[in-house]
Amino acid sequence: MGGHEQHHVVLFPVMAQGHINPFIALADLLHRRRPDLKITIVNTPLNIQSIKSSLPPNSTIRLRSLPFSPSDHGLPPGTESTAGLPFSLFINLLEASESLHPHFEQLLHDIAMEDGRLPSCIIADNFLAWTVETARKLGISHSVFITGGAFGHALLLSIGLHFLRLPTTQTNHVSVPDFPEIQIDWSQLPRHLFVPDNADKWTGFFHRQNSYCFQSNSMLVNTVKEFETTGLSMLHKLFRLPVFPVGPVLCKPLSSSLDDVSRCVEWLDSHRPGTVLYVSFGSQNSINASQMMELAVGLEESGKPFIWVIRPPFGFDVGAEFKPEWLPEGYEERMREKKQGLLLVHVWAPQLDILGHGSTSAFLSHCGWNSVLESLSHGVPIIGWPLGGEQMYNSKFLEEEVGVCVELARGNREDMMSAKVEREGVKKVVEMVMGGTEKGVEMKKKAMEISELIRASMEVNNGVMGSSIQSLEEFFTAFNLS
Ligand code: UDP
Repeated sequence: MGGHEQHHVVLFPVMAQGHINPFIALADLLHRRRPDLKITIVNTPLNIQSIKSSLPPNSTIRLRSLPFSPSDHGLPPGTESTAGLPFSLFINLLEASESLHPHFEQLLHDIAMEDGRLPSCIIADNFLAWTVETARKLGISHSVFITGGAFGHALLLSIGLHFLRLPTTQTNHVSVPDFPEIQIDWSQLPRHLFVPDNADKWTGFFHRQNSYCFQSNSMLVNTVKEFETTGLSMLHKLFRLPVFPVGPVLCKPLSSSLDDVSRCVEWLDSHRPGTVLYVSFGSQNSINASQMMELAVGLEESGKPFIWVIRPPFGFDVGAEFKPEWLPEGYEERMREKKQGLLLVHVWAPQLDILGHGSTSAFLSHCGWNSVLESLSHGVPIIGWPLGGEQMYNSKFLEEEVGVCVELARGNREDMMSAKVEREGVKKVVEMVMGGTEKGVEMKKKAMEISELIRASMEVNNGVMGSSIQSLEEFFTAFNLS
């Protein structure tokens, strides 16, 4: 820290748990590397309450709320995050986040009154890149924090900048304008482009936020340099900003009940090492009803043991009671009797305990970035089933560039070919990844190598810093925070 001045960094995640968690972990990392730094996380009142409950009681990280009224934005009462929110209302929440602009500016003035000076730096979500205007106005440094991966975001941000409408001719391959060497499939375009009523709002929002990114001073990314060299140079090429890979910043997610932890661990203990498939579509997503039926049969026919975190199918209320008819007749009892499957219905699964258990062999995942990092940190290869957004490109990257993933299906829209799942396909992919095939063995080896890279990136050994710690130090220097 330069002289006696105490620098103050303000962190501002968008209102979604999958973004808030990495921001909390980043705040913790900043604090561990610079205990003298003042750190404040800003959000809406309910999110601030939940952040508070996930910080240790003696934490020095400060929290500040901005006034927010969900009903002013057509959101159900008490809605301040994406949890349980229907996809059609996501855009309301995102647009609502832009309305926080004057409150955020006022908060910075309040902080200046209290501290006798303005904060030194704002670190904001790339969905809240508008904060750069406030930073410029007040003469504060600004950095965008990308909570996802570099490759996935480079493609997503580029698409957000260029595709204001769905490309008019449906061909199998679409070139991403900034990266002509990369072809994506029509089915990998963001889901919002296909929603006619909301398309203008979504594209407008992303276009605005992505354009603001250009004015920022740098980008922090939740990834590891050695793992994402290509993606990091793509981000740099797109925005011409210094890019600092400081990941993995992983926050221990909401804790599961002790009963659920011991239920899963005991179940895994009762299976042989490296034999169990873990199936989960993240904190808020689900597949559709016919996909669920085919997946259930395919898993049963594969004969492999599995733990499946299961919610009502896409299109039904996420909190609704789970109906037995969504699964084959007698399925849950049969899986229990055969000791083949443990179904976690409406349970917050202890994902880290499951992935860290020696019996877990592979993860059938929607490829959300936290899940990807958690899986690879434990050397667990992935069966990809991306459902939207940058998950599509995460899966592509993991399969084509890294070789730790095989994609089983894509999306949950009934009308998409890529979303058609048949039981034979499930069986085939599970067998390929878990059945001792050459491909499966190679994927496991790669995943173990990546876990080693990830671990080393965060270590400091005899003064030698891992790449992510080194990168964070470079960020401190560049922003004059050292
Ligand atoms: N998670 C969990 N238990 C669950 C579902 C999700 O612990 O039953 C955690 C998971 O470990 C990860 C996060 O929730 O940290 C999901 O984040 P991700 O980026 O993978 O996907 P998202 O939910 O944001 O789509």
